[in-house]
Amino acid sequence: MPRYRVSANLVWNVEGDTYKEAEQRATEFLLALIKSSDIKLKTRISMNRLKDRPQVKRLAEFMPEDVLPFIGPNRKDYQVGEQTYKVKMNSHRYFLFSEERKCVVCGVEGTRMVLELPPGSQCPHFNFYAIEGGEYLLMTKDHKVPKSLGGKNSLENYQTMCAICNGIKGSAELSLEDIKALREIYNTHRDKTTPSQLYQIIAGEKEGRTKSKSDINVVTAVRKVLLAHAQVQSKSTGGSEVSPARSERERLSEDRDSDKVARSGTAS
Ligand SMILES: [Zn+2]
Repeated sequence: MPRYRVSANLVWNVEGDTYKEAEQRATEFLLALIKSSDIKLKTRISMNRLKDRPQVKRLAEFMPEDVLPFIGPNRKDYQVGEQTYKVKMNSHRYFLFSEERKCVVCGVEGTRMVLELPPGSQCPHFNFYAIEGGEYLLMTKDHKVPKSLGGKNSLENYQTMCAICNGIKGSAELSLEDIKALREIYNTHRDKTTPSQLYQIIAGEKEGRTKSKSDINVVTAVRKVLLAHAQVQSKSTGGSEVSPARSERERLSEDRDSDKVARSGTAS
């Protein structure tokens, strides 16, 4: 019987206040792993310090009535403790939310405006949240006709969608009925499956519903669903800080698009 030499590279994350402490934990973990197997392992540990993940800072929570009636070209002062923030009030999202607070797919209604400071920024902005199952769920501005298909950045082309339904939709061509059906499947499985199983289920169901078989956006869309899921989870366990999931970065880039339109004079 021929013999083979196998070499494997294990990569995992450990926490520790110091390098030494992290190394100790990594070593203990590895030794426990070796003890639990029959094979003799030759090990060498090398570690790199991971960068701290930037965090979105939640400054304060307001009611929609404290924010939506004041949208327009002028900044508005919001007091948080000793600090006064001059908040821009002309985001397209605010105009949309002042017209429609409910997700067009699942009907969940936004009820909280949270003043948030993105990592490295001095300019806070409001994010709109619904409370679903006791957890915060981000409300988003969805393009009815996707930008990739020539859809415009205009109020007529926007609809309010919660982050989960928007993640399910992705940039695929799906009817609202199909997204609603997928959202129900999501609801049924979210607490019973792991994120990767949920990924498989939604991807499979979505493929069956998407007109074009070559929907290259399925993977991206399902990843967004999982991020929305993770974001909801982190809000239920975390304190005042939340991780800026991808949806947050995308929303920020959407904001930049909105500003461009606003400056070119087509926004109202
Ligand atoms: Zn929804």
